[in-house]
Amino acid sequence: MRSPGDVGLVDGFSGGHRSTIRFGELSKLLPVGFVVATIVVLYVQYVFLHCSRLLQLDLPSDVRRKDEEWRGIVDFTVFHAITSVLLYCFGRCALTSPGSIPDGKGWELGSEGAQDAPGEQMAGSSRLIEKKHSGERRHCKWCLKYKPDRCHHCRTCNMCVLRMDHHCPWVYNCIGFRNHKFFFLLLIYAAADLIVINFTMFETVWWSTRTDVAISMMFTLACGATFAAFLMVLTTTFLGFHVWLMAKAMTTVEFCEKSLKKENYDSSIYDQGLYGNLCAVLGPQPLLWLLPVSQPRGDGLYWKGYGSKRASASSSREGAVA
Ligand SMILES: [Zn+2]
Ligand SMILES: [Zn+2]
Repeated sequence: MRSPGDVGLVDGFSGGHRSTIRFGELSKLLPVGFVVATIVVLYVQYVFLHCSRLLQLDLPSDVRRKDEEWRGIVDFTVFHAITSVLLYCFGRCALTSPGSIPDGKGWELGSEGAQDAPGEQMAGSSRLIEKKHSGERRHCKWCLKYKPDRCHHCRTCNMCVLRMDHHCPWVYNCIGFRNHKFFFLLLIYAAADLIVINFTMFETVWWSTRTDVAISMMFTLACGATFAAFLMVLTTTFLGFHVWLMAKAMTTVEFCEKSLKKENYDSSIYDQGLYGNLCAVLGPQPLLWLLPVSQPRGDGLYWKGYGSKRASASSSREGAVA
């Protein structure tokens, strides 16, 4: 379900206000370029140095070593399957709008009285959990709108983001309610790809040190393997952190706020139990959790709180993430 104020997948191509802002600063696309370059370099190394060696394409088929050829086919297929999903998730994560506050009564600043009108779609500030210390509704001074729970303003994207997780420069987009699953799967498939590269390409690196190959090829393979190992450690650590956050029903912003407040950041007021927390990010169907389909239910505006706890969100602190 798309909310009226949502700028969707086509946002980047729509010529709308936000797309002008988003793609107006080319320097901010540099991290995206770095990610694309990394994918291309590792792809070329893996396919053209490792897989082609195992496939022995330079030899007639009757003299090829069958065991190596078979492993080449398996490595090539597995690597391409994972990389395809990874690229799809990368594209969707970068181009899907994380979701923003809808236009209309109830969310516009100064429309406090209209929000509880019967039949109003966005009715009910009473359904909101997070309030300011003074008891007032949280609002955004840049967007001039009331904020739903878990919503924060991103200065880079210049918009309020529903259930904001964080702004990710590597995809030049905010990670929020509508693209969090793509971001999470991107981490999973990036980690999977790097694990496959590290554990299967090592043999080719070793082979290059034992065989009469050009020193440049040996050097390229060694550098590529080291780079892939470094990225694997980084990515799996980051993935582990996000798995923990998801299991605890916390966003990165909420984790940072709790750390700043020195609160117990082992629990969230939005905790719905482990299964419920996984569904809140990966969707309601467990069989589709690892596929980039089946988005989580809800509109990203209202969230069920755990018990009757109330979070008092200080809008002044939001400057750090806002
Ligand atoms: Zn805002
Ligand atoms: Zn952002």
